[in-house]
Amino acid sequence: MPKLVSDRTRPVLCPFCGAAVLRPVELEGGTWYDFAGGFCDCGAVFALDPTARNGGAAFLQTLVVVADGDMDRAMSLGEGEDYDVGYVQNYDSHQHRLDPNSFGTLYFVRLRAGGQDLSQ
Ligand SMILES: [Zn+2]
Repeated sequence: MPKLVSDRTRPVLCPFCGAAVLRPVELEGGTWYDFAGGFCDCGAVFALDPTARNGGAAFLQTLVVVADGDMDRAMSLGEGEDYDVGYVQNYDSHQHRLDPNSFGTLYFVRLRAGGQDLSQ
């Protein structure tokens, strides 16, 4: 039986640009990528911590993705200097909506313009 979507839920929006966020998917190509995540058109990278208990690890993964899989580079980046962080809480991965009764957290990281160019 389909569950009705409550009026209290809200769409998932990127904290940087306000665009609708795609459903997190499993990331390929890295041993560090334990969490589902994805990318926004504005350049932000995100990872989902479905339990709100793995925040540090999910955030770290996001940093590594932003650093193109390079852990040393990820560790050398400074918040507020090289990148900005955004959090989206109350994420429900079943509905892909924000629900006050859900405890998932999406961690967003976006490199600052003029920061290190990690694509080289
Ligand atoms: Zn965005």
